[in-house]
This record gives sequence, C-alpha cells and structure tokens, in this order.
Amino acid sequence: MKIAKRTVKPTDPARVAAILAELRKAYPDVVCALIHKNAWELTVATILSAQCTDVRVNLVTPALFKAFPTPKAMAAASLPELEELVRTTGFFRAKAKNIKGAARVVTEEFGGKVPQTMEEMLRLPGVARKTANVVLGSWYGIAVGVVVDTHVMRLSRRLELTKNTAPVKVEKDLMKILPPDRWIAFSHELIHHGRQVCVARKPRCVDCSLERLCNSGDKTWSSA
Ligand code: SF4
Repeated sequence: MKIAKRTVKPTDPARVAAILAELRKAYPDVVCALIHKNAWELTVATILSAQCTDVRVNLVTPALFKAFPTPKAMAAASLPELEELVRTTGFFRAKAKNIKGAARVVTEEFGGKVPQTMEEMLRLPGVARKTANVVLGSWYGIAVGVVVDTHVMRLSRRLELTKNTAPVKVEKDLMKILPPDRWIAFSHELIHHGRQVCVARKPRCVDCSLERLCNSGDKTWSSA
C-alpha cells in the first residue's frame, strides 16, 4: 500500500492500516516479555515492572514465586520479606505493599483467581489501567483497552496517532483509531519497536520499516 507522506491526515484509516501491517510484518510472533505462568504471576510482574526493566523483573520473580507461590501465600507474607525479594526493582516498599495488598484482595474477594474485568482489576492495589490491560489482554485475551507504557506513548506521538501526553487520553485516542482485534498485539509490537528501533534518544530511522510513513520531528534519517 502506497501512502503519500504529508498529504494524508496522520489518523487516516489507510495510513493506520499501513502502520499496523508493517508492525505485524516486523514482529509477527510478539509476546509479553515478562516471564509468567499464570494471570497472578503476570499481575505481580507487571506491578513490579513500573519504573523498571522487564529483564530486571524476570531476574526477581523466580525467587519471589518460589517463596510465595499463590496469592494466599503472598497475602500472608511479611512486608520485610517481600521488600527484600523485590528490592532491586526500585520503589520496593511501595511495590511490596501493593503486591501483598493485591494478593489479599484476590484471595479474599475473588476466590484466589485474578478477575477478568477492568472494573474488578482496578480494585487491586497497585493496579491501574496499564497493568489491567496487560493481564486482561495477554493472559485472558480480553481486549478492553490498549496498554500505554513509555514506549507506546513515545511511538504513538512520533507516529502522530495522538497529541496527548496523559496515558488515559493516549489510550482513548488509540482505541478510536485502531481496530479492537489489534489492541492487544499493537502494544506488544510498539513496545518491541520502541526497544529495538525507535529508541528514545537517536531513533534508528535508517533501520525502521515505518520510516516512509513517519513524519516525526525526532527522525534521524529520511528517505524523502
Ligand atoms: S522513522 Fe524513526 S522516529 Fe519514525 S518510527 Fe521509525 S525509528 Fe521512530
């Protein structure tokens, strides 16, 4: 599909479709980078991933889940024990408190099973829309929104899919222009693209498959 660079609206459905097609081609089998065996582990790993790399979280979670394998066990854990186990992910006091609190709510209010609706997910301490979207989308396959992390935010703005900077507004903009059956994969693809190519400083535009569709002022190279 040939899309003229500056003659179409950034959110023109044909341009958006072209971006989606390029992303799918570049990242055909993309999955969540956080290692997990179930919805509960993914919930905890996502809470821990705030202001931290997935690589670091993946180093921490095996010992955490070995010590406290279920929400019930984690709810009964002492805060100092949890703090020690998650210390290297940063903000460890708040994170330990949140995962213990989330474990308690999952155990007491949801029978030990991570809930499957946005409304219920938001009842868990430490869980905002981003974490809820990760778990609902990646584990349960339920698309109720779009995960907006730092990569999705940066790339959506560079690709002019949004002008907003507040995650909830960016998510709303993306939900308006993306087909719902691409909400889950789109975030994974953009996160990978943001890590590998469209990095925060000096994006590698010369290697970017979206380059001909991108008019970002941050571009470091242009084919035009
Ligand atoms: S062309 Fe450059 S700025 Fe645009 S999406 Fe690709 S890497 Fe990012």
